Amino acid sequence: MPTAAFADNQQLHKIASEISAIRIETDIKKLVGFGTRHTLSETESDTRGIGAARRWIKAEFDKISAECGGCLTVYYQSETISGEKRIPNPTEVVSVIAIQKGQTDPSRYVVMSGDIDSRVSDVMNFTADSPGANDNASGIAGTIEAARVLSKYKFNGSIIYAALSGEEQGLFGGKIMAKQAKKDGWRIKAVLNNDMIGNIQGVNGVINNTTARLFSEGTRPTETDKEAITRRFTGGEVDSPSRNLARYVDKIADQYIPNLDTMMIYRLDRFGRGGHHRPFNQVGFPAIRIMETNENYNRQHQDLRTENGVNYGDTIDGVNFDYAAKLTSLNAVSLASMAMAPTPPSNVKIEGAVKPDTTLSWTLASASENPQLAGYKIYWRFTDSSQWQFSRSVGKVSEFTLKNVVIDNYFFGVASVAIDGTESPVVFPGAAGSFGN
Ligand SMILES: [Zn+2]
Repeated sequence: MPTAAFADNQQLHKIASEISAIRIETDIKKLVGFGTRHTLSETESDTRGIGAARRWIKAEFDKISAECGGCLTVYYQSETISGEKRIPNPTEVVSVIAIQKGQTDPSRYVVMSGDIDSRVSDVMNFTADSPGANDNASGIAGTIEAARVLSKYKFNGSIIYAALSGEEQGLFGGKIMAKQAKKDGWRIKAVLNNDMIGNIQGVNGVINNTTARLFSEGTRPTETDKEAITRRFTGGEVDSPSRNLARYVDKIADQYIPNLDTMMIYRLDRFGRGGHHRPFNQVGFPAIRIMETNENYNRQHQDLRTENGVNYGDTIDGVNFDYAAKLTSLNAVSLASMAMAPTPPSNVKIEGAVKPDTTLSWTLASASENPQLAGYKIYWRFTDSSQWQFSRSVGKVSEFTLKNVVIDNYFFGVASVAIDGTESPVVFPGAAGSFGN
């Protein structure tokens, strides 16, 4: 089956090549060096605990910003949480946010995130050594490295680098950020949540550094009863904006990241596990989880120990820095591509019942916010195909009829395309697939 490819963009190849495994290694070692980064750990020390860790992350973002003439707005985002099962007593959950403002459409955002906090066997143990090298210093180091590389470029839309806290205690940093984003009217079009991007040796012995997983939800939790009825008749179970974001990242991997194939998993997350993309999904934002394919459970959430000759614990020797860099490149190119492209089409509609033709319509993007807009591209695929297969560029119009393409036999969507060839994710018609305005 064919897959419709993107136009090749040299700048994106360059970005992919600029991510450094050595810098990622240095940063993971630094984060591990804080002993524990447990959300309830001490905050006064400059060398140990989550306070020292977040101050270091903020200082890194500030340093990156200084090198690009102040191109990042860096701040702490915090809220005091208490009365929760895993945060019983009042505790400040503090995330570090760095925003690279877009040139023409600054209220449109794409986000890369990782988690600051770590844990051992007992989730309430905030004093034991908890290196969290892979879970999730790898995600934080990748996020900082993406900021280093992308801050040297200018984009139409805004990019956010988020070091979130309180993940292991109940996804609190993500909840706080998603709630605030909603309140402030941020147009978040994508959250790429990185949670464990450095392990290549599975607990089952499989060693694999050429694949990664993209977890995305199917139907949306924000769907109304009426929208669910519409979806029952016209489809959309496998075309949420998060799912089409996953398809986008999958295509980026094929085109820009050598020796990396992504496995799109049609599921919110792993069984019984959580991640910081979920709070964003919860309020309607497109968000996916990016992670290694083969997990090593002996290295996750474990007290540091040796039992029957087996080493337990999330230590630095379990992280493959080249692999973490590869997944970071995937993030950086995906963020750059979306931030270069025009905003995803809004108000996408489709009709064509009992006709030989299919007509799609959408709202033409604002020219002042999207001066790079070259036009639109309609995509379609067989209903049992995982990836978009066919496409047609249709120019700068807000409606187009595909002659002799029967609506019943395919799924359809629309992407916006920039003069430089970069594209937005594909937007499936109706509420089920909407990326918002
Ligand atoms: Zn974890």
